[in-house]
Amino acid sequence: MDRPAVIRKTASDWRVAPHWHDYEAQRADFSWDDVRRELEGLPGGALNIAHEAVDRHARGPRRHHPAFVFLGEQGQRDVLTYAELATLTNRFASALASLGVHRGDTLFVLSGRIPELYIAVLGSLKAGMVVSPLFSAFGPEPVATRLTLGAGRVLVTTESLYQRKVEGLRGHLPQLEHVLLVGEKGRETSLPDTLDFGRFMSCGTDVFDTVPTFPEDAALLHFTSGTTGKPKGAQHVHKAVLMHWMTGKYALDLHPGDIYWCTADPGWVTGTSYGIIAPLLHGITSVIDEGEFDAERWYRILQEEGVSVWYTAPTAIRMLMKAGMELAKARSFPQLRFIASVGEPLNPEAVWWGIDAFSLAIHDNWWQTETGGIMIANAPAFDIKPGSMGRPLPGVEAGLVRRLQDGSISLVEAPGEEGELALKKGWPSMMRGYLGEAARYRSCFSGEWYLTGDLARRDADGYYWFVGRSDDVIKSAGHLIGPFEVESALLEHPAVAEAGVIGKPHETLGELVKAFVSLRHGFEGSEALRRDILGHARKRLGAAVAPKELDFLPSLPKTRSGKIMRRLLKARELGLPEGDISALEQS
Ligand code: AMP
Repeated sequence: MDRPAVIRKTASDWRVAPHWHDYEAQRADFSWDDVRRELEGLPGGALNIAHEAVDRHARGPRRHHPAFVFLGEQGQRDVLTYAELATLTNRFASALASLGVHRGDTLFVLSGRIPELYIAVLGSLKAGMVVSPLFSAFGPEPVATRLTLGAGRVLVTTESLYQRKVEGLRGHLPQLEHVLLVGEKGRETSLPDTLDFGRFMSCGTDVFDTVPTFPEDAALLHFTSGTTGKPKGAQHVHKAVLMHWMTGKYALDLHPGDIYWCTADPGWVTGTSYGIIAPLLHGITSVIDEGEFDAERWYRILQEEGVSVWYTAPTAIRMLMKAGMELAKARSFPQLRFIASVGEPLNPEAVWWGIDAFSLAIHDNWWQTETGGIMIANAPAFDIKPGSMGRPLPGVEAGLVRRLQDGSISLVEAPGEEGELALKKGWPSMMRGYLGEAARYRSCFSGEWYLTGDLARRDADGYYWFVGRSDDVIKSAGHLIGPFEVESALLEHPAVAEAGVIGKPHETLGELVKAFVSLRHGFEGSEALRRDILGHARKRLGAAVAPKELDFLPSLPKTRSGKIMRRLLKARELGLPEGDISALEQS
């Protein structure tokens, strides 16, 4: 069936009047000072994310309103009101004093989506600590790398994750002084050199004065991947709360009474900014599902929990599409009124599928770990051009640039022309640094522009269209994966001499991690060796990061300076033109 290029919106499409309906006028009127006035703040100009997210509501008329509905893997359903969340986070924050940790120290969380994760994140913020949630599907190496880079003094995890991913490397983590363990099925734990989470909480008090952090104090540390070197720790400050609030309003259209479900894991930035903070700022109820993707279960949650605003990702949507329309049609979703997606390109078919399955288009939006919040979006009142990620939000100035030889940039103005997506400095959730890597951070900026590393086009109506990444970073199932981290793990296998890793287009995952290796003298490529190397990588890196495919090559294409040419590996794999290979080392 032919689908039009634009989905026109009319007022009859809105079940609730959107917050934003005049694109130009509301952008022109917008000011961050006005957003700041919507928040409460703390005496002396202090600002704390957890105060705005939890205590502001816990002391007001929404105190008995559910903040979280936790759906456990075994079918349990636990509700926490704002008042209960305030008490639990107070207990956590006050108990931290018994550990001798201080404002500004870093606490990591490594767990599935269980209540303790949310309590630890918000409680640490109340205590003025910097918090970094890690993805529980990481293997021991990515976990240890990030704990070391972030100099984590405290880790909150579960007994089984600790045993599988941390215990073996604990001797290499001297800065990690305290490990709080959530026992299986609520049982107390007593592993050596750890503390039981429940016992720890009982040392705390129900009342706690949130630390009056300054707007520029560090709050969140999110690791992201680059093409080379170690993962980058993007540092975010308490002032990011302005962005979380603004985008909750204008991009996600949150209204009082909404039941909201963000399917992202807090181990990735979306699951923190929008899976924890933004919905709480708006005093609404968030559904948290501990389970992994399952089409039938997801439709059941949407229906039975009465989800009204749903924030999900293209891979999940593609998996739902694959599971068949009948599953969607077997249920009804009368409450659902707005669907948004982020993380990878949302193909036009997925936008249309939303209309077929839910009578609602899916609204793509764009941002990245470094930006700390949604920057470009399709908001409910505006026409959608399927395939486009939308237009810049209020308070966000976007542009397209070309990098010049002398290190400066020029703006790309002509509609339809490709350039690197750039954002004008000044939005409150912009990262304040890459941990310990000042030069790497500086290289992201040119004058007043932050350069995103993404290539895009802008049409004559100001809509942005994603073209691709300007680097070799891989996006698989919405997760950013640094080829270097994967290559390093492969090189630890005794048979591997060289490794090059690329993202190969994949129908569901967006990209699949594919490795190419050459072998050391004395090893022969065989099916058994392939499985052994893939198994080794999986054990080290975890299922979310490890390569799914591996080919043996006699040698890998390299530049004369010895860098593996991943671009060339990719072009050869996909049968594309090899481009400029003047730097190729001739063997
Ligand atoms: P992360 O920092 O892990 O959130 O990944 C950010 C990157 O994901 C961006 O730089 C883009 O390459 C990609 N991305 C995020 N949202 C979109 C989108 N709506 N369309 C296309 N790519 C996206």
